[in-house]
Amino acid sequence: MGQERHWRYCQKCSSIFKNARPGFKGACTVGGEHSAHGFDFTLDYDLGPAVDIFLGGNYEKGWRECGKCHGLYQGAASRGICPAGDGHQEPMGLNYQLWTFNAGGADKQSGWKRCSKCESLFFDDPNSRCKAGGGHQAATGRDYTLNYPLQPHLTVAYLNQGFTVTGKEYTPEGPVQYRASWDDRYHFPKEHHREIVDVVTDIDGAFSAWIDPDRPWQMAFVEAFDQWTGHSASGKANSF
Ligand SMILES: [Zn+2]
Ligand SMILES: [Zn+2]
Ligand SMILES: [Zn+2]
Repeated sequence: MGQERHWRYCQKCSSIFKNARPGFKGACTVGGEHSAHGFDFTLDYDLGPAVDIFLGGNYEKGWRECGKCHGLYQGAASRGICPAGDGHQEPMGLNYQLWTFNAGGADKQSGWKRCSKCESLFFDDPNSRCKAGGGHQAATGRDYTLNYPLQPHLTVAYLNQGFTVTGKEYTPEGPVQYRASWDDRYHFPKEHHREIVDVVTDIDGAFSAWIDPDRPWQMAFVEAFDQWTGHSASGKANSF
């Protein structure tokens, strides 16, 4: 069994989709490509052909990625209706498993459903839009729970009389706010500086920034917050 990141909620149609580079995000019912918003989910999968729906235990197998809309669909009974037209396409080769049980704890989101009209996995909110018309419609009472276990880390380093800040494992294409502070040790009493900056991570969940204090001989402390998960990471560096 493996795990795969980069599964996201589409803010246009409320379906899940695999968030790849622009041009490969998959067709959205509302038009154009899906648009990522919120958490970056990690899904479990098995290799080999997808088996039919498994009703025992706390999870359900048989979910496939559609090669046209890059959403997830439950293909046991039907290929459903794809936002790109006709049914969802042949499986991409992985058999995804979804949790049907929320054991509690942090970094999980329930409220995901299978649509009885198009077979797609979607988040059940008023925003949802189905290719079959209207909003998606929850098929059963079955409620799926998705995990977003990503934990960020941050590196701060002194370089050329400034500080480089490098963040990794943040939500991809997501908002991050970093707060940097440093003391100016040339002055007495010493001056305290503070800077708050909003950045957006790249497709891999990384960002880099440059802090350029107006004098050397300082120490910088930086904490960067993932605005979707609320997780933060910090780092510091000395210039001496
Ligand atoms: Zn969409
Ligand atoms: Zn599809
Ligand atoms: Zn639907």
